[in-house]
Amino acid sequence: MQKAVLITGASRGIGKSAALAFADAGYAVCVNYLRSEKEAFAVAEEIVRRGGNAFPFRADVSEENEARALVRAAQARFSRIDALVNNAGIALDKLLTDTDAEEWTHVFAVNVNGAFHCSKFVLPHMISQKKGKILNISSVWGMVGGSCEVAYSASKAALIGFTKALAKELGPSNIQVNCVAPGVIDTDMNGALSEADLCALCGQTPLGKIGKPEDVASLLVYLASDSADFLTGQVISPNGGFVI
Ligand code: NAP
Repeated sequence: MQKAVLITGASRGIGKSAALAFADAGYAVCVNYLRSEKEAFAVAEEIVRRGGNAFPFRADVSEENEARALVRAAQARFSRIDALVNNAGIALDKLLTDTDAEEWTHVFAVNVNGAFHCSKFVLPHMISQKKGKILNISSVWGMVGGSCEVAYSASKAALIGFTKALAKELGPSNIQVNCVAPGVIDTDMNGALSEADLCALCGQTPLGKIGKPEDVASLLVYLASDSADFLTGQVISPNGGFVI
């Protein structure tokens, strides 16, 4: 039976690239999106055009009921979910003193609660099949902290704690939980960075370049595979050496 993956925030950037990479690796893909409907449908159509199996599904993962509906839709469509990629995320570039409570709460609602909701709803199924992979997308800023990104960094650090604790809880059920913490990757999320900013970031990166979404996607496909069955509770950081 064909394996299946649910990827949150798969309409653009890293999630889109992951959707295509998982499809190329033979997975059926649930392409979650929130606002970018046209883009999400295009991702699913591209997978079908390549001979794969995919469908787009709109859900705000920060909302418990919408996350539940998303997981139900993927299970109904594929009869199984082998891997969940908690990728949907938002950034906030602000001094802490300029961050209001609503903004803080929203960053945590999407970045942390979204992973909580989707993991919670997918787990009964994975536990009963005694097999599954959960991959949480953190960030180097969750590892080392980013100035003017305190809310974002704190939410991404929370995902690291979430990963480690859940890996311990789910080890006996043969479910691996890992965290991928990318460095700077060329997506819309970094669209506001100027050429000078990007040059400076490259200068601070031993490999001398910023990453591509595909650099993260190929790692995710590996971590979801049987080859990574002895790997759990880890934080793996594709970052070109930016953080060592
Ligand atoms: P992106 O290009 O801005 O894409 C973000 C994705 O998240 C979009 O598909 C968006 O969907 C989706 N999304 C946002 N809020 C959502 C919600 N409430 N419910 C469902 N989907 C939602 O960002 P990216 O760079 O690919 O980032 C993907 C992940 O990698 C994020 O968790 C980010 O924090 C992390 N990351 C990125 C970098 C980087 O340098 N780019 C580095 C480290 C970590 P719609 O467009 O359909 O609304």
